[in-house]
Amino acid sequence: MSETYFQEKRREIKKRVRDERLDAIRKSDKEGWKRRTSVEKRINLIELARQVRAVKEDSLKRLDELVKIARESLERNGIQTYYARTAKEAADIFLEVIGDAKFVAKSAADVPNEIGLPRILEKKGIELLNTDFGYLLWNFVPEEYGSTKGIPMVHISLETMAKAISKKTGTHVKPEREDILRNVKKVAERFLGKAEVGLTGANAIAANEGSIVLIHEQGNINRVISLPQHVVMAGIDKVVPTLLDSVAIAELTSVYQLGRPPSNMNIVSAPTEDWNMELKPTRGIFGSREIHVIMVDNGRTKAIEKGFAECLYCTRCFACHNVCPAQERVRNLFGYNNSYISGRGIILSAFVAGLKEAVESGLFLCTLCGACKEECPIDIDVPTMIRRLRVEAVSKGLVPKADTQMDNNVRDTGNPFGEPERERTRWMNEKS
Ligand code: SF4
Ligand code: SF4
Repeated sequence: MSETYFQEKRREIKKRVRDERLDAIRKSDKEGWKRRTSVEKRINLIELARQVRAVKEDSLKRLDELVKIARESLERNGIQTYYARTAKEAADIFLEVIGDAKFVAKSAADVPNEIGLPRILEKKGIELLNTDFGYLLWNFVPEEYGSTKGIPMVHISLETMAKAISKKTGTHVKPEREDILRNVKKVAERFLGKAEVGLTGANAIAANEGSIVLIHEQGNINRVISLPQHVVMAGIDKVVPTLLDSVAIAELTSVYQLGRPPSNMNIVSAPTEDWNMELKPTRGIFGSREIHVIMVDNGRTKAIEKGFAECLYCTRCFACHNVCPAQERVRNLFGYNNSYISGRGIILSAFVAGLKEAVESGLFLCTLCGACKEECPIDIDVPTMIRRLRVEAVSKGLVPKADTQMDNNVRDTGNPFGEPERERTRWMNEKS
């Protein structure tokens, strides 16, 4: 493993720890918790969480059977389905499905990033636009890092943003939220006007009904799924038995993320259709003409086989992000590929990308404090899984040299710096 990589990462980490722009987000992390406690009077969250955990446990135990049922139900509804064992297979299927299309609009779905789709499309000259508003903003300041998964540009001031948008669009944009929104939307609308393919993930796929459940806050998914071709690319772990199970997952996710039920929820079970003409189906009325679902394994079966099924229970509510000390200091540097963030994300990355990538994504940055497990509605035991992966990483020699050195120092001198114990006062002052 390249030591230069770790040195660069260390430099980046130091920058983020000292970036005062992140202080506002550090404070707002606590807001999610406050919002959630306010709905506890109306929604029995303990019961809902218990239900979701039971659904996920059961689904992952009989995943092969459920995937088979889901594919049959979706096909019966007029949706084409595919199973991709690897990232490459998923990308190949996607390229075959979209044919000659040149413009793809996506939601903030993560599996496309997991399989490296943006780079593949770029090489083929196919334009991809992430329609999530934070990511639309990011396009104007690509030199900046994304600070969090859900709101990546929250640390950028309106002045910086307005200046960047003005420069790129040649229009004077005022440093005001409304003006920024208007101008960013104009750019997105132009793209949506020519996009042929809408790419989304899924919060859940109901096997019995053959339905895809999607929740969102911004309404962008309404637009993406209305394009002529809607492609869903989701991990096989999203398949659950019923639509009611899927809705429970959607509700729990949203309440833990935003302190309220989903503001938008789409249940997609068939392409848009009308039977007025000759009593025959005409498709693509005001929405999709065809829907394709690519179910991606890419290491998930291996995670289950190796006893890490619990990491696939995750509904991606991000509640654990708000309490994680590593996440608080370095944001998405503690995570894989700006997609799978924080402890649970790093565990998943060990299977979808490899153990080396998990180490590079911060496997050894976790403090093992256990706050994520406490906060997680479905009680996912992140620290135990992190420990197990660390043992494997150590046995494979994947630990950064500095960490090994620190370990040796603690053993030999009683402190991580390797300084003499007798001169403690001197070096403590020097290092503070
Ligand atoms: S155990 Fe690790 S991942 Fe979990 S909250 Fe603590 S530092 Fe974050
Ligand atoms: S691991 Fe984190 S993101 Fe996943 S369900 Fe638990 S709290 Fe939510």
